[in-house]
Amino acid sequence: MTFFAKFCIPFIVGVVVLFAVIAIKYLSWLRNLPKKDWKLIFSNIISWRTVAAAWEVVCESLLHRRIFKVNPRLGYMHMSLAFGWFLLIAVGWMETVAYMGFKWVPLQGHVFFKYFVPLNGITEHKPLFDFVMDLLLLFVLSGVGLAWFKRLRSRALGMKKTTKHVLFDRIALSALWFIFPLRLVAESITAAIYGGGSFLTGGIGILLSKSIGVEALSYTYEPAWWLYSTALGVFFIAMPFSRYMHIFTEIPLIFLRHYQLRPESKEKSYDNFELEACSRCGICIDPCQLQSQLGINDVQSVYFLRDRRYNMLQQKIANNCLMCGRCEQVCPVGINLNTLRLNSRSSMRNIPNEGRYNYLRNVDTSSGEGKVGYFAGCMTLLTPNTLRSMRQIFEAAHEQVWWADKEGGACCGRPLMLSGEVDSARKMIEHNKSLFVKHQIKTLVTSCPICLKVFREEYKLEGIEVLHHSEYILRLIQKGRLKINYQRGATFTYHDPCELGRGSGIYDEPRAVIKAVGKLLEPAHNRKEAFCCGSSVANTSINDAQQLTIAGKVATELSETGAKTIVTACPLCKKAITRCTETQVVDLSEIVAQNLKQ
Ligand code: SF4
Ligand code: SF4
Repeated sequence: MTFFAKFCIPFIVGVVVLFAVIAIKYLSWLRNLPKKDWKLIFSNIISWRTVAAAWEVVCESLLHRRIFKVNPRLGYMHMSLAFGWFLLIAVGWMETVAYMGFKWVPLQGHVFFKYFVPLNGITEHKPLFDFVMDLLLLFVLSGVGLAWFKRLRSRALGMKKTTKHVLFDRIALSALWFIFPLRLVAESITAAIYGGGSFLTGGIGILLSKSIGVEALSYTYEPAWWLYSTALGVFFIAMPFSRYMHIFTEIPLIFLRHYQLRPESKEKSYDNFELEACSRCGICIDPCQLQSQLGINDVQSVYFLRDRRYNMLQQKIANNCLMCGRCEQVCPVGINLNTLRLNSRSSMRNIPNEGRYNYLRNVDTSSGEGKVGYFAGCMTLLTPNTLRSMRQIFEAAHEQVWWADKEGGACCGRPLMLSGEVDSARKMIEHNKSLFVKHQIKTLVTSCPICLKVFREEYKLEGIEVLHHSEYILRLIQKGRLKINYQRGATFTYHDPCELGRGSGIYDEPRAVIKAVGKLLEPAHNRKEAFCCGSSVANTSINDAQQLTIAGKVATELSETGAKTIVTACPLCKKAITRCTETQVVDLSEIVAQNLKQ
């Protein structure tokens, strides 16, 4: 048997194009990885990391476990398409082997086996294979049905918004929608003419033969297989240029991630794996407050990644983001969305170092010293109650403190980084770092989550521990260096700042400090789900009124807890929320300083 018919040509062309493009893409991305990334790959490839990566591929690329957790209906849709199709290929291959033995059969022979071997005069296996293949086809078709339904009624699948597609997406999507219905038609007509098939294709075959007649159906036999093959071919050709490239790309990404590769603050070849692993599932749209509270619908991560992938990213998309991390939190592919957006800003807006910050050389006139360096941060300097409270806390703990902001310290550099001015940020970082080393501090405490993040991630402060003041205060309390008067009847609610919570994983320490002072009442959205206050320095695109709208939502939710005081641990959040509520808003350090035992 030759296992070839003319209708196989679209499918064969599609497969050749697909694998050629994928090979070219992956090889060029891998070839351009920096040496240190290659070292990571070689040092990790023969280790348990590879096994862990393979297991994650099964759980995520086939079963879509993370999407299930966020949205079970959407998870089922993705799983039935991916896992169902995989099983159709695997069982189809087993079926071929069962009939032909272990001999070489070309790929199209497996795919169109029902055409080439409609009955084969066979055998005891056939009813079982027919049944399993029909069951799997039904499984995939249920996913296709949900995908169709999602386009019409996205809310029924738990999504307020679905993504907008580019041309290649539309071509691939249309082909994908028809692949399995056309397979059902082709196999059912085959069953009508030759017999065979199980409850699905066999059942429809009997209906067709009775209603249309075998002779009339024989005219549709070849066209039906042509259409099925053409849908496959079109899908495979469009796939590497469309969102469906994620089907393959998530697999190498998972392995590279297990080998410790990460995006950095400058665009690099690895970013391509993250960009093309985005399935455009749209899960990142609903949590975005720019969408839900301001009605801005075209800047969310899915659109940012799409535009960057097709080299059509504009500053107005890259810049309009709070970097709140709410989307990154739910992304089932685990894409480093904030980092990718930051390095896009950097490549679009970075102004090369032109000596604009040379004046920094002359600002260090400091003489103070201390085991602890306190870096209040620019925004904290504008919130005097926090500064005053921190001074009281240091004094109560008899801490010897070097006050960085007063003694030559410059901005931490993160606002510049967030805006894309990486070179200028580096100037600030070098300047501050040299001060920290010069004053031989052992612990660096900051009251600003924005500073905290850049200190921990970019400064590389060897031998200096970096703490947010919530961590530092809790430590003082636990060591007995601060004594607090617990206030019976005092009720507090807490707003998680984005950069402290999702950004640095600090959720428990501020809560523990609050509970040392009084009762804590949690708002509806807290911890990883907490809302952004809207005043992020990462977004210079939205105006004051829009910032107020976002802050108003946060303030309302916090006030609804009934707490007498709203506590936060970020100077920006404090300022934003204060503008929108009658309830008292304070920094964490204030409730501690106000309740110190003398
Ligand atoms: S960024 Fe993540 S959540 Fe958003 S569309 Fe892509 S895969 Fe889905
Ligand atoms: S980081 Fe926040 S503001 Fe930016 S796209 Fe994601 S959810 Fe929206």
